[in-house]
Amino acid sequence: MPIATTNPATGEMLQTFEPMGEKQIEEILAYAAEAAAALRASTFDQRGAWMREAALVLEGRQAEVARLMTLEMGKPVREAADEVAKCASACRYYAQHAERFLADMPHDAVAVGASTAYTRYEPLGPVLAVMPWNFPLWQVIRFAAPALMAGNPGLLKHASNVPQTALFLEELFRDAGFPAGAFQTLLVGSDAIEDILLDHRVRAATLTGSSTAGRAVAAIAGRALKKMVLELGGSDPFVVLPSADFDRAVSTAVRARCQNNGQSCIAAKRFIVHGDIYDAFARAFTDGMARLQVGDPLDHATDIGPLALARGRDEVAAQVDDAVAKGATVLTGGRVPDGPGWFYPPTVVTDLTPEMRLFGEEVFGPVAGLYRVESVEEALEVANATEYGLGSNAWTTDPGERERLIAGLDAGQVFVNGMTTSHPELPFGGVRNSGYGRELADLGIREFCNAKTVWVA
Ligand code: NDP
Repeated sequence: MPIATTNPATGEMLQTFEPMGEKQIEEILAYAAEAAAALRASTFDQRGAWMREAALVLEGRQAEVARLMTLEMGKPVREAADEVAKCASACRYYAQHAERFLADMPHDAVAVGASTAYTRYEPLGPVLAVMPWNFPLWQVIRFAAPALMAGNPGLLKHASNVPQTALFLEELFRDAGFPAGAFQTLLVGSDAIEDILLDHRVRAATLTGSSTAGRAVAAIAGRALKKMVLELGGSDPFVVLPSADFDRAVSTAVRARCQNNGQSCIAAKRFIVHGDIYDAFARAFTDGMARLQVGDPLDHATDIGPLALARGRDEVAAQVDDAVAKGATVLTGGRVPDGPGWFYPPTVVTDLTPEMRLFGEEVFGPVAGLYRVESVEEALEVANATEYGLGSNAWTTDPGERERLIAGLDAGQVFVNGMTTSHPELPFGGVRNSGYGRELADLGIREFCNAKTVWVA
């Protein structure tokens, strides 16, 4: 895949970039090692001041950066503007809380025959971040803000279709005042990752993206015995039981499936609805999906823009066609429209069975699978029937059902009567093929620290 900005709304290639060569990569790694020493010597107060400045830069350039993201990957520009604002708040969150999260943790000194015993959190060193295009700013900031506050330099290998956003991110932290080399962008293809990750100056890696990319990079990290955090795909269930607030469940279902043009790892993708309300839900949900405004993502009235990549649109269309060929029913959408750009309409499919790709695979576009169940147990069975386990949604007002769903959903996150959303304040991550490790909150900042045990006689 070339490193290039191509407008997904038109298919027009706007700018291409030469991948960096060996010499440039070597310079970047050397800078990162120097920056590791500079960051380690800085105080939380100093890093916090730089991070607050980064928040101000983001807010000052909000409209410009939002437009850039929309041009590169097609998300509706008002969602892009929200993403910039969310990034600024994550910067402030870690500026405020990092010192507390990484404070020495005292242990029972007497029990271990010491005068004092504690855990100290120290930075590991440069961390390689392999990142996706779907939230091209947020996915990076949620790694970079805690990493930099902990004292770890960042090396960004962004997705090849968002190079200008990647370059902006390097500029952001430089303009905010961080030492040279604290956060750098590597304009390279995925074939360059192996050598970079094996380099002794790179101490760990994090990847957000497909399970395929995750497996490939984790295998390299495994060979080099370097720690990784993996935030991979999801096929989140959205379980609706008869006691739920029906109207809110329906409107949230539409939003949860279609935000970011349906290209979110934590989007609800499979709607598992109790038989008592299934027909009414199917009607209202299909109606809500069909009403969404598909069009130019730079238009503030647009709900759904194009998919980010031509191959992404082909994949979504192939998944739906496969289900239809095997007997599924399309309630709305389901056809690639004529015209330029990589658009795909909001689509609802029902009568899904395990031999269909849509049943077990992640679908990265505005396509919802609808399932009818007759009990909480059956809902859990369908919900847990994929190899993923990222987020999940449970809709009920019954306390007993709520507890059964929280305990029974095999996922890294359960959101009850609301939509799965990432918040700086909450740990974020999955189980099974959705990856391992956690981002955000206190757990996220400790992932790339040496938890050093100190024992003093
Ligand atoms: P990928 O997972 O392929 O890309 C994510 C990142 O990984 C990019 O920086 C990419 O670089 C890199 N990468 C890809 N393949 C490899 C590899 N073999 N070794 C090392 N690095 C690699 O996302 P796609 O855009 O191809 O999307 C494919 C599917 O992935 C989607 O349909 C969706 O299911 C899932 N996905 C999930 C995301 C999430 O948020 N969890 C985000 C994006 C995708 P490059 O761009 O240069 O190939």
